[in-house]
Amino acid sequence: MLIYLNGKLVPKEEAKVSVFDHGFLYGDGVFEGIRIYNGKIFKLKEHIERLYASAHAIDLKPPLTQEELLKATVETVRANNLRDGYIRIVISRGEGDLGLDPRKCPNPTVVIIADKIAIYPEEVYKKGMKIITVSTRRNSPQALNPNIKSLNYLNNILAKIEANRANVPEAIMLSIEGYVAEATGDNIFIVKNKKLITPPLHLGVLPGITRQTVIELAKERGIISEEKPFTLYDVYTADECFLTGTAAEIVPVVEVDGREINGGVPGEITLLLMKDFHEYVKKEGVEVYK
Ligand code: PMP
Repeated sequence: MLIYLNGKLVPKEEAKVSVFDHGFLYGDGVFEGIRIYNGKIFKLKEHIERLYASAHAIDLKPPLTQEELLKATVETVRANNLRDGYIRIVISRGEGDLGLDPRKCPNPTVVIIADKIAIYPEEVYKKGMKIITVSTRRNSPQALNPNIKSLNYLNNILAKIEANRANVPEAIMLSIEGYVAEATGDNIFIVKNKKLITPPLHLGVLPGITRQTVIELAKERGIISEEKPFTLYDVYTADECFLTGTAAEIVPVVEVDGREINGGVPGEITLLLMKDFHEYVKKEGVEVYK
């Protein structure tokens, strides 16, 4: 496996970063997770745009342009001969001293990893997922805005630990005010009266690329999406519920906190969007092997 590290493709064993890197010391940095489908990198431009928006929000200046990073990403995938897989791009603050001050880190670290993808078992997509709500609240946008895809994922990891203890693969996180925010690594949708509802970004959720794709695919079907705050009551009484994310894709949710949704089976609109999504990912994307 070849890893892109600061402008060079190096073997995995040589892809090493300093222990003084503020990404390691403080989680100071940003990242992206991207899919490769059938030799094409799905929504690569959108992911790079979000990465640069996250970097800008934390006042981190990437050492390469978006176009250069796009090319480096394509080259990394090609060097690893992958047709289907998962890419992780990381830009950390870089090496500094033991203090917090980012001004002591003149050179951000850029890493691109292209690997195989670990996915949920097929059964989860056929039968749907049972999830819970965890007590860990999603970060307040006033403290650390979840719109930023930062390396500081401890909030989500604390929620994931709660999910693990309850033996479920994902969990709902509420905002500080008690509205449904998102899952630990996915966005959430409910379906009510044939309309999609998903939490608005200002509530403090990641502007998911899959979320946006689903909104667009639904629109093509004439299905309206509303971005508005909702509570657990709305989830429990929803007609359908599903999660979206790059790794997870679209996962039907059939039970939340012991309450069955749609009689415990994946809903009609969810299944339709899953089908549309799978067809769409085959067509869309930046070609790696031209
Ligand atoms: N929310 C969080 C907290 C995430 O980590 C992710 C995965 N990157 C998502 C939502 C889904 O975003 P996307 O569809 O862009 O992968």
